[in-house]
Amino acid sequence: MKRVSILGATGSIGQSTIDLIGRDPAAYDLVALTGGRNIAQLASDARRLRADIAVTAHEDLLPELRGALAGSATEAAAGPAALVEAAHRPADWVMSAIVGVAGLAPGLAALQQGATLALANKESLVAAGQLLLRTARAHGARILPVDSEHSAIFQALVGEDASAVTRVVITASGGAFRDWPLARLAQATVAEASSHPNWDMGQRITIDSASMFNKALEVIEAHEFFGFAPDQIEVLLHPQSLVHALVGFCDGALMAHVGPPDMRHAIGYALNWPHRRPLPVPALDLAAAGVLEFRAPDETRYPALRLAREVMGEGGLAGAIFNAAKERALDHFIAGHLRFTDMSAVVDEVLSDLAATSDARNDAPTLDLVAHMDHLARHRADMATETRKL
Ligand code: NAD
Ligand code: MG
Repeated sequence: MKRVSILGATGSIGQSTIDLIGRDPAAYDLVALTGGRNIAQLASDARRLRADIAVTAHEDLLPELRGALAGSATEAAAGPAALVEAAHRPADWVMSAIVGVAGLAPGLAALQQGATLALANKESLVAAGQLLLRTARAHGARILPVDSEHSAIFQALVGEDASAVTRVVITASGGAFRDWPLARLAQATVAEASSHPNWDMGQRITIDSASMFNKALEVIEAHEFFGFAPDQIEVLLHPQSLVHALVGFCDGALMAHVGPPDMRHAIGYALNWPHRRPLPVPALDLAAAGVLEFRAPDETRYPALRLAREVMGEGGLAGAIFNAAKERALDHFIAGHLRFTDMSAVVDEVLSDLAATSDARNDAPTLDLVAHMDHLARHRADMATETRKL
């Protein structure tokens, strides 16, 4: 039996992971499930899957979680330290699907106990890629990508000589506003930004898809995880979201990964790796899809892509600054304090202010230093929001 933990079990990726595991319960031994405010979901999944422990991120919800688990075999716990403790419990495979940099410390804890970390939480790679990779190496642990584009690249590289790779192309749907006139973007509402044309995902990543911050994070993620040089990573708009990524080789060949927009593909690949097993995903009918379109993204519409290149050029803790400023700008947009188009202006300002500081010039940061930089960048993003506040 494979011992499995799911961090962020109540979210979109967490629920898709539970869907796969729940189809073959005899094959898995559930160690820990974690969630946030949705205690009913967390408790019912923990009971059904007989998890050893269920953890909510919020300490004030511990009595409610205890009540919901009364009479079951599952232990209840709450708070950030309990999340880390749960992630550190021996397991073979841990899904990292908390949203935001909050997933970093639990992800590191999972690697420290030697688990294979299935990484959906791209923010932790952007904020602390080298720290994650170093921790994995030090503990003989492995990271498998779950972001669909990175899973696609990973699959296209199987059996290939990495030194023969000359380019990678990450595709982007273009999000909710890809066909809006530029002038209208400043007026975009939270509700409008929260609906994705092709993928059904959590609210934050859906808004990040509309602003292209999601793709910016993914470009940095590819740089950190695979070690591709910034100028080897291209982004193409592909409105159908069927080709997830392409890998180009020195002989000119391009290997594309094609599949329906269903995250159970990438999650299942990481769950079954190094094998392939059937997944409950409908076969793709390319004749019905008909046309696959590709076009270059317009960087005036998507300034986040330019910022991603700046982050890779700066190195050090620029990724932690970028991610924290982006998370905070997104909080302010969701709260109605900031225009959609001002999120990138805030991130740009914070990055310009902090990325060149001596603290940020550290290529082997500790978790404490990442947390310090994250804190500074959030504070700076609040100040940059103040001058633009609606
Ligand atoms: P979601 O909002 O649906 O779920 C997030 C999960 O994290 C929930 O379980 C929530 O309770 C938990 N959480 C939120 N804040 C937390 C905190 N401060 N501490 C601890 N737990 C917290 O998000 P999602 O769409 O499932 O995305 C999860 C991660 O996977 C993100 O990093 C996202 O970028 C990445 N990802 C998602 C998709 C997708 O299709 N949804 C695709 C690729 C990558
Ligand atoms: Mg993705």
